[in-house]
Amino acid sequence: MNQDNRSILRELEIAYPPDNIYLQTLCTILNAAGMVGLPHRLQLILAQPKNELIVNFPVRMDDGGYRLFKGYRVQHNNVLGPYKGGIRYHDHVSLDHVKALAAIMTMKCSLARLPLGGAKGGVKVNPRELHPDELMRLTRRFTSSLGSNLGPDYDIPAPDVGTNAQIMAWIADTYMNLNEPRKRPIGLSVVTGKPLDFGGSAGRDKATGQGLAYVLEELLPEMGFTLKNLTFSLIGFGNVGSWTGQLLCDMGMKLLTVLDHTGAIRNPAGLDPRKLAAHVEQRGGVAGFPDADAIDETTFYTLPVDLFIPAALEQMIGENEARQVHCKVLVEAANAPTTPAGQRVLAERGIAVLPAILCNAGGVTVSYFEWQQNRQSDTWDVDRVDAQLKTHMVMAARRVKLAAHKYGCDMNTAAHAAALEHIAAVYQLRGIWP
Ligand code: NAD
Repeated sequence: MNQDNRSILRELEIAYPPDNIYLQTLCTILNAAGMVGLPHRLQLILAQPKNELIVNFPVRMDDGGYRLFKGYRVQHNNVLGPYKGGIRYHDHVSLDHVKALAAIMTMKCSLARLPLGGAKGGVKVNPRELHPDELMRLTRRFTSSLGSNLGPDYDIPAPDVGTNAQIMAWIADTYMNLNEPRKRPIGLSVVTGKPLDFGGSAGRDKATGQGLAYVLEELLPEMGFTLKNLTFSLIGFGNVGSWTGQLLCDMGMKLLTVLDHTGAIRNPAGLDPRKLAAHVEQRGGVAGFPDADAIDETTFYTLPVDLFIPAALEQMIGENEARQVHCKVLVEAANAPTTPAGQRVLAERGIAVLPAILCNAGGVTVSYFEWQQNRQSDTWDVDRVDAQLKTHMVMAARRVKLAAHKYGCDMNTAAHAAALEHIAAVYQLRGIWP
């Protein structure tokens, strides 16, 4: 942490341990802010979310008993438009974690030039332990606890780790039942990532992986790579990991290894991502996939690949993992998968890192398209969604390249710089009210 960052934290009277994910996120933002000369007042504004909500709510379980759950919604910044960001169901959801992810959303939406701000939410729960009826009651009760803090013009959630299209449908239905019935068509746009039959967008399921594929098409050839025949490995085979696997294999690349919460697997001839997705759907994880060998974590990290793609949780590539990985490019598909210490080691080892706020911006971009379609009672076909997504991703990747050239910095700092330049321009035009 540099001197300027320390003084901002002192001024706001906030102190965190070095491994705190919010501190790490903040330092990334403030480093880029210092580089672009962001005014001090904007650094202070962006260093803290606008709103931090914590709700504790009871849910009736199937056995007749009750459990109390803790939920969060953090609204980081809305200077560019309504708050936007996913809802996570996971055991390790905490306020600082959600704050970090909300700030990341502000940066991501700005980099992609979407008219949306940044937010994130979550409930501390392992969704795999709940029966679908319990999950529905939890989702409805969480949505009603957030009350008017959600809204189609104000704050629009989406899926994230541990949530899916069905959960988004329950959020939309709850919101529409609790709000004025005459506004129901607009009520549908309170959440994105919904099922296709209930206001979802074509191409939303694969959007994050598809966006990442477009970024690779734009950046890798200039870095000297021929896309076809590149080998890659994945951490995580959920929404982002499985679609990334399928789309990159369709481009002629070969998936060699996958690690998820159930174990690690390898097939030197290449894993079939569609068969693996079907296996994960049935068995809950990659362990036991018949067309592969089980390997341990050290083997997973050290096996040589061209692209190493973390697509699971945050902070998974620390100093140790960064020393172990044997790749040419690390492609950040998950949010903040690499710690600052991990980034330093990768830089020392000459491994390029393509930053998360660029690589995974496809999800929120197609969420924005879904929101537009709902509000216009329109339906776009997948070709239109993909074409517009490609334009957004290519433009965002070019912004990052330009900023890296302009400031002579790494791609992650450049991505944040390009995001902050836009936020600064909008604050300059709007001023600080009143
Ligand atoms: P998901 O719940 O569908 O999948 C998560 C994956 O992580 C699973 O395969 C799980 O097995 C794996 N995992 C969990 N704990 C692990 C561990 N300890 N070791 C190895 N693997 C582990 O989630 P997702 O939607 O694919 O999100 C993945 C990441 O991408 C998150 O950082 C999320 O915030 C980010 N992201 C998601 C989207 C989206 O559209 N879903 C968009 C942008 C960013």
